[in-house]
Amino acid sequence: MSPSAAFGLLLLHSVLWSIASAYTIDASCNANLDFVKNMVAAGFGLVQSAYDAVAVQDINNVDDEVKDLMKWLFTPSENYELAQAELARVYNRINDWAQEGDSAFPNVEFYCDTNRFEKRTITEQGQPAEVVWVDKVMSPPGSGQAKRHMAIVRGVNGGSYNPEEECKKFGVSRHMSDWGKQATLAITMNMPSTTQIQICPWFLDYVNEKAFKDSHSWKTWGVGKVARLVKLKERILERDFTMADTIFLFDKLIAHELAHAHNDRIIDVGDWEGYGWRNCLRIAQVEANEVRSEDRSAWVLGPYSNADSFALFASAINARGQGFRFYEDGTVDKPDVAGPSK
Ligand SMILES: [Zn+2]
Repeated sequence: MSPSAAFGLLLLHSVLWSIASAYTIDASCNANLDFVKNMVAAGFGLVQSAYDAVAVQDINNVDDEVKDLMKWLFTPSENYELAQAELARVYNRINDWAQEGDSAFPNVEFYCDTNRFEKRTITEQGQPAEVVWVDKVMSPPGSGQAKRHMAIVRGVNGGSYNPEEECKKFGVSRHMSDWGKQATLAITMNMPSTTQIQICPWFLDYVNEKAFKDSHSWKTWGVGKVARLVKLKERILERDFTMADTIFLFDKLIAHELAHAHNDRIIDVGDWEGYGWRNCLRIAQVEANEVRSEDRSAWVLGPYSNADSFALFASAINARGQGFRFYEDGTVDKPDVAGPSK
């Protein structure tokens, strides 16, 4: 490519970027605006840190602690070049949206209530064919029966699901049947032209109730508060969660949702079984068998398909930058900031 052609492409890219790439925070978040703004910005910050850590020319220049995190979460076989390429690709895409803007066509929109949805019956040849949940702002009534152009909330299997129900607090979502008491904090919905990240209203109520001001301090979100949040104290640190899961919990939540954005191929591998440090380590074990194919049926779902693997890596990289040290079993040494303490 000639230098002038390269320059032309670069210019085109930057012009498009300035018009199109942004996220917006919907007015439904106004009641908790500071908290949401901080959380979203911090979530993008985790992703940026992770990108910076892996996007180096030579894998030999990647720090050993960073390599360990790559190994545990993505590549037990130590295929660092693949991990580097996959991680950089995913994080770089998210970095493109990291600007808050007032674009009419944002890449990612954050919502704090579900009022924009309504239930609608789709008719085909005059007969009711399907009941769907539709974003009534994006697809006003009468905007046509062309289903593929409507902002329908799709579930994993293609069916439409009810975002209000999905977002409820404990044990009500269809995902939750076997867990009974798991809680959905946020949902990502890839629409035809945008991605909506729904922050669940009950969670924001909880934040208010507990007067949490700070979304991203590891001190604010210590293990005890996380335990109260999910009301599963006996499980915390014993079975399902580790210290590594609690650090930057809500910034990590945003990083997790961003991994799903505009990308139906990054999912929660095994639904709830895709969450948390221990599950991510287990999922990493199938990395060697990962098959990349345009044909969904040929997927072997491994760590590069799992949103929480990307979120946990980003969180760990950021925490490491603040002096934490991570171990393979998910325990974490805190930075020695206030003298000796346990
Ligand atoms: Zn997810």
